[in-house]
Amino acid sequence: MTGSTVLVLVDHHDGTLRGPALELLTAARGLGEVHVAWLGDGLDGALGLLGEHGAAVVHQVRLDGPEARLAPGVAQILEQVAGAVGATTVLLSSTFENKEVAARLALATGAGLVVDAAGVERGVDGRVVTVQQAFAATWTLRGEVTVEKAVVALKPNAVPVVPAPTPTTPQVQVHDVAVPADLLGVRVVGRTERAGSDRPELGEAQIVVTGGRGTDGDFSVVEDLADALGGAVGATRVATDEGWISHDAQIGQTGVTISPKLYIGAGVSGAVHHRGGMQSSGTIVAVNSDPEAPIFEIADFGVVGDLFTVLPQAAAEIRRLRAADA
Ligand SMILES: Cc1cc2nc3c(=O)[nH]c(=O)nc-3n(C[C@H](O)[C@H](O)[C@H](O)COP(=O)(O)OP(=O)(O)OC[C@H]3O[C@@H](n4cnc5c(N)ncnc54)[C@H](O)[C@@H]3O)c2cc1C
Repeated sequence: MTGSTVLVLVDHHDGTLRGPALELLTAARGLGEVHVAWLGDGLDGALGLLGEHGAAVVHQVRLDGPEARLAPGVAQILEQVAGAVGATTVLLSSTFENKEVAARLALATGAGLVVDAAGVERGVDGRVVTVQQAFAATWTLRGEVTVEKAVVALKPNAVPVVPAPTPTTPQVQVHDVAVPADLLGVRVVGRTERAGSDRPELGEAQIVVTGGRGTDGDFSVVEDLADALGGAVGATRVATDEGWISHDAQIGQTGVTISPKLYIGAGVSGAVHHRGGMQSSGTIVAVNSDPEAPIFEIADFGVVGDLFTVLPQAAAEIRRLRAADA
């Protein structure tokens, strides 16, 4: 639709763009003029990259308190910025927190809501059309948003990043959006920084190596393979319930939903509650000593074997190939 404005929420850590940010900008260019919502400071270092990926305008929102960073606050901010610039489509990354933001925003603005989308485009009538995948990506669904406004949360790794054909120098507009804590019904009483890790965020990682009960509590080979591949470490609920790894690593129905390009499950049976969180991964590799394990039904590549033998061999070979390439 000519003249459409699409507002993209760009997540960042103190000015460093989070993984899916450029994927969102790439997708947004097909929907209209790209406006970015940038919450907080740290914009200067990222502006060039945003321009290279087609941002026409960046709306920097100064935050007036820690509550503004919570989902109800972010939803209010996006509602106000989208209203101010006349954006009928809002795009954000389909993370756990952003799905709540998207739902609140859609409810407040009467927009159609799609989460976990694997693609987004404009239909012939100008309406937003999304693509979703189901049943281990064996089905692809296309759905049209039937109202004028749309809020779409796009899965990480769904769209390959492509720089804009013509880079822009984004115009920056600074907004002061009031988000009164008492209206949000929440108050932040403390913040604790999570211990840093060199590994990518689980929900955004392109490669995830997952350990299950088959590790018997020893995640060292899972972590080592993840590090050899530059990936994140995930786990089944059994592994987190046993205290072998933190609950943040749990993938599945009651854990994180992931859509990496490569998922490797080691000592994971492939129970339905686990599949719910990983079955739309691009390529699924399973390492399991039981050839009847259900995970082999959805695996693209299966290794029947002991994970303590297979994973170190794989890690050593990957390191050898990388060293040969260097
Ligand atoms: C309401 C509800 C919600 C749930 N939510 C989740 C969720 O979000 N995520 C989740 O993961 N689960 C969830 N579960 C639990 C889920 O049903 C399964 O119990 C769990 O996923 C099984 O974990 P697992 O594959 O590690 O263990 P198991 O099912 O016990 O499988 C272990 C596998 O390891 C293999 N193995 C053993 N030793 C080795 C070895 N040395 N080398 C190679 N393979 C080996 C075995 O052959 C077996 O296939 C939920 C359950 C319920 C009821």
